[in-house]
Amino acid sequence: MSRFFSEKFAELEAYVPGEQPKDQQYVKLNTNENAFPPHQAVAKAAAAESEKLHLYPDPECLDLRVCLAEKLGLEPEELVLTNGSDEVLNFAFMAFCDEHIPALFPDITYGFYPVFARVDQVPFRQIPLQEDLTVRVQDYLHAAGTIFLANPNAPTGIALSLDDIVRILETNPYNVVVVDEAYVDFGAESCLPLIREYDNLLVVQTFSKSRSLAGGRLGFGAANPEIIRDLNTIRYSTNPYNLDRLTLAAGIACLTHDDYNRRNCRIIIRTRETARKALTGLGFEVLPSSANFLFARHPAIPGEEVYRRLKEKGVLVRHFAGERIRDYNRISVGTEEQMEILVNKLEEILKEDGRMNA
Ligand SMILES: *Cc1c(COP(=O)(O)O)cnc(C)c1O
Repeated sequence: MSRFFSEKFAELEAYVPGEQPKDQQYVKLNTNENAFPPHQAVAKAAAAESEKLHLYPDPECLDLRVCLAEKLGLEPEELVLTNGSDEVLNFAFMAFCDEHIPALFPDITYGFYPVFARVDQVPFRQIPLQEDLTVRVQDYLHAAGTIFLANPNAPTGIALSLDDIVRILETNPYNVVVVDEAYVDFGAESCLPLIREYDNLLVVQTFSKSRSLAGGRLGFGAANPEIIRDLNTIRYSTNPYNLDRLTLAAGIACLTHDDYNRRNCRIIIRTRETARKALTGLGFEVLPSSANFLFARHPAIPGEEVYRRLKEKGVLVRHFAGERIRDYNRISVGTEEQMEILVNKLEEILKEDGRMNA
């Protein structure tokens, strides 16, 4: 820290993204990127658009917003597009929390939420998940603050039902409820259709996971037009050109070939279930996942050790040090071949320990 850094950030611990190592080729199952590259049309569209890089992009992102609205059955005024969904989440902390309105979210969830709360200088309360790492819905009824729920949750992969979300919305008419649906396309129910009925609902989605565009940085918020206007006030006050030309063009091409994305999601779901069975067969306890990752622990080997020994064998997964989850690892669902390698390496580890017959 330099002697110039504002004291207000003295305690700030920045978010730590998953490793992106350059030292060797890993089987990379640590950041929940899509197992498949984007459709070829995406690269073509971005390349063509690059000829116009001397011109600012459209701050209204109108073409892409219209295209996305049509895909989702919404109006363009119900959408705000952002530089990854991290950006719209940050905007929501800025717009809908303050010293009197704390942010409320589970103790085990997306690690960026407490970081946003701190950098935006708003109070927050972490509500413990139940013993089985599910959300206790009662904890969020008649709440006193802005609610942030990842659904499916990360890193557990466990989803809430639409009925549960509705109960939370119904009992919080004076609170904004932010539902972060980063993984919803891998098997959970989206509450996008509810934004017409509940003016306190903000749904956040991303192109990073189910649409293979993590490197393009494209996310969005969907809500009634008044909430969207608030978010745009923040957006125009920070970075009106938050989406560059290449990403806007890529996003349209990506949506034009959305059947390709949906097919990939189906493959990933199938691969996830095959991998889940294989891990269970090796003695792992695996939480039921509605996402493109599995959260798994082995009764005999500490989570950190599984992470480390897999890395030595060229497979990268994500380990979190949090007290309640340090026995687990979060394993992104890659291609079938990648998951076979993962399972083989885990089998090797168990054999080395004499926990399986060679
Ligand atoms: C990956 C992820 C995001 C954000 O991803 P972006 O790449 O910024 O769109 C948001 N929430 C959760 C729970 C995630 O896992």
